[in-house]
Amino acid sequence: MFLKGKTALVTGSTSGIGLGYARALAAEGAAVMINGFGDSAEIDGYVADLSKSSGAGAVYCPADMRKPSEIRDMVALCHAELGGPDIVINNAGIQYVAPVDEFPEEKWDAILAIILSSTFHTSAAALPHMKAKAWGRIINTGSMHSLVASPYKAAYNAAKHGVSGLTKTIALEVATQGITANTICPGYVWTPLVEGQIPDTMKARGMTRDQVINDVLLDKQPQKQFVSIEQVAALALFLCREEASAITGSNLSVDGGWTAQ
Ligand code: NAD
Repeated sequence: MFLKGKTALVTGSTSGIGLGYARALAAEGAAVMINGFGDSAEIDGYVADLSKSSGAGAVYCPADMRKPSEIRDMVALCHAELGGPDIVINNAGIQYVAPVDEFPEEKWDAILAIILSSTFHTSAAALPHMKAKAWGRIINTGSMHSLVASPYKAAYNAAKHGVSGLTKTIALEVATQGITANTICPGYVWTPLVEGQIPDTMKARGMTRDQVINDVLLDKQPQKQFVSIEQVAALALFLCREEASAITGSNLSVDGGWTAQ
């Protein structure tokens, strides 16, 4: 349990990849704050399981990643209840698929806020705690869409490219202070977010469900398989190790070969 004594805050961790990160960190002994939306009984169950698995505390914070003041309060609550945060994983995300000239303004604003601005606010609020201990890990969930684009995902591509630029800036600013910042860039991972974008893509492209899965989602993923949540979480865990302390400012792909093309 190499993360005993550390506290991790994972945004968007009531589902999918975020919950996978939280489970992996807790299994290594970290106290964990989870965040996101969902059924309250289900979330209570996740908190109980995480706490049991880590032997340290686990706390849920319902902060809305569109709201800077709630994000700053979440970091303060984490510090007060669990200490740290020593590890911050910015992971909350949503998707919307439409051509640029039909892209709804409110979807653009929400995607930029949840994916990009929230990463700025959590990082800004957590960095003083990390600097005080001269140790920290900021791990941001980017995407292959941090590196290359796909049509109909204007806000998502822009926000994920932005996350990569922000992460590099943080990495440079704290390079001598024991803190690293990296972007994990997964290819398609089978989660509710991916499942949820299938109907819109069917509509936007006039395709069947199977066509969207095989000809759109996995079209450019050379391994022709979805990445697993556990494969992404394993990379985040590695980034928390001392052996990874020279990895900073990097985009790390876990994409089945997507960006090799
Ligand atoms: P998911 O839908 O399973 O989980 C998203 C999480 O974000 C949930 O916990 C949800 O409650 C939370 N969330 C959404 N809006 C929020 C808000 N306003 N405030 C707080 N929390 C909010 O999705 P996922 O596939 O696990 O995606 C997680 C991250 O991974 C996202 O940033 C996504 O862009 C990225 N990603 C996913 C894939 C993939 O194929 N699934 C690929 C690359 C990157």
